[in-house]
Amino acid sequence: MGQNEDLNLIAQWKHQPAPLLGLMHAFHDRDGHISDEAIRSISEGLRIPLADLYSTVTFYHHFSRKLPGKKSPRICTGTICSLRGARDLLKRFDNAVEMPCAGRCDTPIPLILKDDVFTLSPSAQLLDQPSPVPLPNPGGIEECLFSKIRDPDRKTLEGYQNTNGYDALKEVWDMSPTDLIKIVEESGLAGRGGAGFPTGKKWEAVLLASGNPKSIVCNADEGEPGCFKDRALLDYDVHAVIEGMAIAAHATGAEIGFIYLRYEYPKTAKTIENALNEARQAGFLGRSGFDVHIRRGGGAYICGEEGSLLNSLEGKHPYPRNRPPFPVTHGFNQQPTVVNNVETLAAIAPIVRHGPDWYRGLGLGEHNGTKLISLSGDIQYPGNYEIPIGLSLPTLLNEWAGGPLKGRAIQAVTMAGLSGGFLAGEDLNVTLDDPALQSLGTFLGAGGIMVFDDRRDMIEVAREAMNFFADESCGKCFPCRIGTQRISERLGLNNVSIEPKSWLEEVQDLGAVMRSTSACGLGTAAPNVSDSLLKYFPEQIEAYLRVTADKEKET
Ligand code: SF4
Repeated sequence: MGQNEDLNLIAQWKHQPAPLLGLMHAFHDRDGHISDEAIRSISEGLRIPLADLYSTVTFYHHFSRKLPGKKSPRICTGTICSLRGARDLLKRFDNAVEMPCAGRCDTPIPLILKDDVFTLSPSAQLLDQPSPVPLPNPGGIEECLFSKIRDPDRKTLEGYQNTNGYDALKEVWDMSPTDLIKIVEESGLAGRGGAGFPTGKKWEAVLLASGNPKSIVCNADEGEPGCFKDRALLDYDVHAVIEGMAIAAHATGAEIGFIYLRYEYPKTAKTIENALNEARQAGFLGRSGFDVHIRRGGGAYICGEEGSLLNSLEGKHPYPRNRPPFPVTHGFNQQPTVVNNVETLAAIAPIVRHGPDWYRGLGLGEHNGTKLISLSGDIQYPGNYEIPIGLSLPTLLNEWAGGPLKGRAIQAVTMAGLSGGFLAGEDLNVTLDDPALQSLGTFLGAGGIMVFDDRRDMIEVAREAMNFFADESCGKCFPCRIGTQRISERLGLNNVSIEPKSWLEEVQDLGAVMRSTSACGLGTAAPNVSDSLLKYFPEQIEAYLRVTADKEKET
């Protein structure tokens, strides 16, 4: 392509908010890769220093620097796909690229992404279907998020409005921001992306903060392996998320909105674009003084961390930010910003319509509301489930999801995708709420639960998990950058050359240092995998160390 085409592309994006991600995708889509010439043109056009831009472009998995680039098959090597043979599949292609997790752990086979379409093989049948529709309320509970999601018309504006869609937004337009925030606070809704910060308090801090324009950022960078709930909400109930954002804007005075979507959801991006256009035409966005833009990420797990996400939106290298200051005062472009997860935003309209007492009452015991759980792995019915917070894990696994596969027994599960590490043995009888989970050293997080039955080698599972964290560590701080690599090596097949006591001490010491000194949640949470492996599977570790020591003696 010539210089004029490059200039035209840059002109289309230059004056839009958060232009760099959109522009990188535009060049990548057009050329199949991002060439040196493209990097020079973008650097000049957006006035980003060449060295900074180069390090940013090369940070993301998705942006290829050379051909065949986008045409290379990308194979998901997330934890579940790896256990189903993804790594063997990877070896069958010369130019295949690893995709750390595609967010499709509920599908039964490793998938290949090629040219924005998921396939079984680079030339074969298309599998680019939307997320499976959630099962029809297996627990028979009163649902908040999934109550209408199975209605096939719900993702269109007409279908959404036929089922009370945008009624809550119309209601809050007559409400003061403080009255609206009070409703959200009283509901007890807390961030459903993992951090669990009270949503009403976050909105109030942005309302009270000085600085303009304020922003609402919907974090749809669902990169945690084993998590695919946000995809289902955006595929089938996208207007609920948009309505939640518009209500958040009314509460805080925000003028700009972004949905930051992981690039692995290309079809979802189109669904969101259509819905945004419908909402604009109907006057729910745009004319209301608040508009929402979609930006697709570039394939980096760390961009799910809110500081990284904001840096990524601003076109900077997506390192996590030091805190304080927090995004509520210094967020997008250093102005007050709400960053909320997809699930959190989707709960807002039902809370406004039914009231805070209704929402609080959906939880069990003293717990407030519901949580979406993405269930995958060795279980009869993988998929997304809406549970009352406080439900017992055995009820979810055995009664709602059909229990283990025929003839097998459940050996372990992960919590919070991978970040919460493993639960096994008696601890599988836990209830799904943070006080109960924290007493066992884990947490609910974004709600991914992967199930491993008694066939699985848990050291292999832990190794895959730690490889993922090592690959995705952004490298900003060395305890995480080095620690994830070192633990990964110690779980490796050929890397144990020390006696068992030292091996155990080293793995524990590495984890302890990472926990206390890493700069963000990736580095502090990754040792949950190794620590819980040591806690629940001492026999498997003993056998592993014995075999490895025997191998060493032979060489
Ligand atoms: Fe980056 Fe890891 Fe440090 Fe987080 S903990 S800032 S991911 S190196």
